[in-house]
Amino acid sequence: MKPTNNLIKADKKFIWHPFTQMADWVKDEPSAPLVIERAKGNYLYDTAGGKYLDGVSSLWVTVHGHGKKEINNAIKKQLSKVAHTTFLGLTHEPAIKLAEELISIAPKGLARVFYSDNGSTSVEIALKMAYQYWLQKGNNKKTWFLSFVNAYHGDTIGSVSVGGMDLFHSKFRPLLFKALHAPSPYCYRCEYRVKGQVARGKDNHNFKSHCKDMKCGGQCLKEAEKILKERRKELAAAIIEPLVQGAAGMLVMPPGFTKEFGKLCGKYGVLLICDEVATGFGRTGKMFAVEHEGVKPDLMCLSKGITGGYLPLAATLATEEIYKGFLGRYEDFKTFFHGHTYTANPLACAAALANLEIFRKEKVISGLKDKIEHMKTELAGLLELDCVGDIRQKGLMVGIELVKNRKTKEDFPAKLNVGAKICAACRPKGLMIRPLGNILVLMPPLSITKKEITFIINTIREAINDVLG
Ligand code: PMP
Repeated sequence: MKPTNNLIKADKKFIWHPFTQMADWVKDEPSAPLVIERAKGNYLYDTAGGKYLDGVSSLWVTVHGHGKKEINNAIKKQLSKVAHTTFLGLTHEPAIKLAEELISIAPKGLARVFYSDNGSTSVEIALKMAYQYWLQKGNNKKTWFLSFVNAYHGDTIGSVSVGGMDLFHSKFRPLLFKALHAPSPYCYRCEYRVKGQVARGKDNHNFKSHCKDMKCGGQCLKEAEKILKERRKELAAAIIEPLVQGAAGMLVMPPGFTKEFGKLCGKYGVLLICDEVATGFGRTGKMFAVEHEGVKPDLMCLSKGITGGYLPLAATLATEEIYKGFLGRYEDFKTFFHGHTYTANPLACAAALANLEIFRKEKVISGLKDKIEHMKTELAGLLELDCVGDIRQKGLMVGIELVKNRKTKEDFPAKLNVGAKICAACRPKGLMIRPLGNILVLMPPLSITKKEITFIINTIREAINDVLG
């Protein structure tokens, strides 16, 4: 038996994979899954000699490609000093330097960095900080949070509480804390348009959604305002994935939505948490999505691309005003009693510093414009296919929503698993992507080339034709 087959056998015997129906996983043919052996640049290589373009940045983390010399070297250099030391009662240079850099590139007003080690914990921390901040200001009524339908903020109980994806979250409702959900600004399937309340113009399936510039009247935003206004005394904070609801299928918000929502939070005295775990570090064409609209978060969550995709790290950034709310004598117990064992891991901080240095040195953000335009042009070609209902793009974040009937927007039945089949058909052609239901998601590394973008779109077109004819 080949060594790879032994590995797969052991995987199926001992491992429980995330977001995976293991009954199917273990039943899959003996040569599945792919066993990834190494990666270089924008490509992954498996033990069977296959080469795959990493179309989702290894779950939205890889920024400048795999095996980037500068990041590898920064980690090695740090490893020769110390791999890990606690951040409770001690500090170290990589974390200090990184905090300074993060604050220098973050939106104005954010002044303090609280480290953790994944996106979910960065959200937990923001939620707990918001609640405790109000408590220490003498307000014990603010115990609720506002988020959005279709929101995804992670898998820990706090982040699930503010999640809005029924498939992942509804089972856990009895365990969750108090959160309200405003309607999702999901223009393609706008619930108000369906109800005919704000029907304007014709439906179309191109980039020009009727919600552009909120000409629809922005009923979803009005509903959010209604909640903010009515429940402002109980709401500690509102949390938003700025500009793009990622895990729900790259739902790009109408321009101005995030900014207006942020303003409303300020107006009604509710803290604004911007979850930039997915959108941060260049994915939308700017370093942070909030920069597109000049949004000013009170708390901002970062992870995924923070280390360029090399090691787990997260940071919750807070304003000085929030930070000060936690100061006092020890016996006042205003301390933020929260911290993880691997908080501010020095290797991860060193990787993050090298990541930011590459952004600067290679002028990565200004180099994105051309690639984003190219992606847009290539994507437009996919609209020739009848099953492509909607294409959403912000920067290099892309969602291609497949429908059985373009006119009625009828979905393919879940049991056909169309999205998964198309992604599987991409693999032998050398492309690795993942679906979210019947939505194909693309989030290539920022180091992707225009030629590779063309390859991705052509491969998807072929795979769709293979699966759907
Ligand atoms: N927030 C957002 C917006 C995310 O997209 C994700 C992960 N996809 C998370 C939080 C959770 O991050 P992690 O998986 O690292 O816990």
